[in-house]
Amino acid sequence: MIRSVRGVHDILPAEAGKWRRVEHAAREVFEAYGYEEIRLPLFERTELFARGIGEATDIVQKEMYTFEDRSGESVTLRPEATAGLLRAYIEHGLHVLPKPVKLYTLGPMFRYERPQAGRYRQFHQLDVEALGDEHAALDAEVIAMLVELFRRLGLADRLTVEVNSLGDEATACRPRYRAELVRYLGANAARLCEECRERAERNPLRVLDCKRPECRPVLDGAPALGAFLCADCTTHFARTREYLDALGVRHLVSPRLVRGLDYYVRTTFELTTTELGAQNAVAGGGRYDGLIKLLGGPPDPGIGFAVGVERVVQLLPDAGPAAAGERRPRVFLVPLGEAALARVLPVATALRARGVVVEVGHGDRKLGRELERAGKLGVSRAVIVGDAELERGEALVKEMQSGAQRPVKLAGLVEELLALGGPA
Ligand code: AMP
Repeated sequence: MIRSVRGVHDILPAEAGKWRRVEHAAREVFEAYGYEEIRLPLFERTELFARGIGEATDIVQKEMYTFEDRSGESVTLRPEATAGLLRAYIEHGLHVLPKPVKLYTLGPMFRYERPQAGRYRQFHQLDVEALGDEHAALDAEVIAMLVELFRRLGLADRLTVEVNSLGDEATACRPRYRAELVRYLGANAARLCEECRERAERNPLRVLDCKRPECRPVLDGAPALGAFLCADCTTHFARTREYLDALGVRHLVSPRLVRGLDYYVRTTFELTTTELGAQNAVAGGGRYDGLIKLLGGPPDPGIGFAVGVERVVQLLPDAGPAAAGERRPRVFLVPLGEAALARVLPVATALRARGVVVEVGHGDRKLGRELERAGKLGVSRAVIVGDAELERGEALVKEMQSGAQRPVKLAGLVEELLALGGPA
């Protein structure tokens, strides 16, 4: 047997309903806020991610699925959606549209991470970006929309909204903070794990993310970025929080919330839960004001987030039996013989065209076996056509629950079945 690749997973029909629920809610919520869907390629030129995510990040350093195609070009399966989306924004001149340009996309992402519960090598994200507007009210609206999605799914109460400001690369605040942090980490290097020591040189802010208990005391004592924010960043963060309050979004300031991608500035946020063990982030995002320019576009600011769909699905309760039966066939057509099969096939087509889920036998099985199958599928009605019925121009309509059956003229069968409707 050939098994699936480590770290990837199938979404079986029993789970697919939850996926559809999440995707449906996302489309409804995002579109109510004026976002439009964009569909993007699953792979891009490698340099896009190297530049857009940051050479020093874990993703670029060790998690990308990169390969040369047959013409020798280096391409990479997308590890996240923002870089590709911004590439499309620039390439198609979408920046001429009224701002903010609001886009969403959804689909699989690929990262060569160590697989564990809630962490996959192919996983799925809902991704949202608002481009060309730096007002703090937009930051708050984006976060509020994310919370609204979870409210729609009945999960808002099980999540915490954490926010932080990362300051700005262009002003003095983040460089000044980084220098201070590097100094602090250097002074405490002996009490940090090997990975933290290595990261302290490569990507010092990310060190704050380490979850190892031996590192926590040092990291909890590290200087916080908040104290270093410049006046503009301080105001932007304060106003974002005021708008969040005005929108009724309860949130927690997490001074050490940093994120895995290099490009974030100012507002960053995460939705976390205590219910998924170590992989506690369900969604995360932030502002990336210099990134579009860095990728060769106009100097437009941007803000966005990504939701980890696997983790959302994991939080959702199993759908009740009604939902599971949503797409169950309502009618089972049981022809007995070739002639009957030919006669019922157009009936199936006509019913399906009217939205009825129909199952058809092939005409070569015994009636008892077909009825058994109809019972297992949970259909409400079986329609039996044997030679005797054919001769009379009739079908036998059998109510599966009661067992009652009665003849119906074949000529009017479609209309009769539609009129019956039936237990959903
Ligand atoms: P990121 O793009 O790293 O900011 O991640 C955004 C969200 O995607 C996270 O909060 C997770 O919910 C989800 N996510 C990230 N990496 C993985 C992974 N390897 N497997 C499953 N979900 C992931």
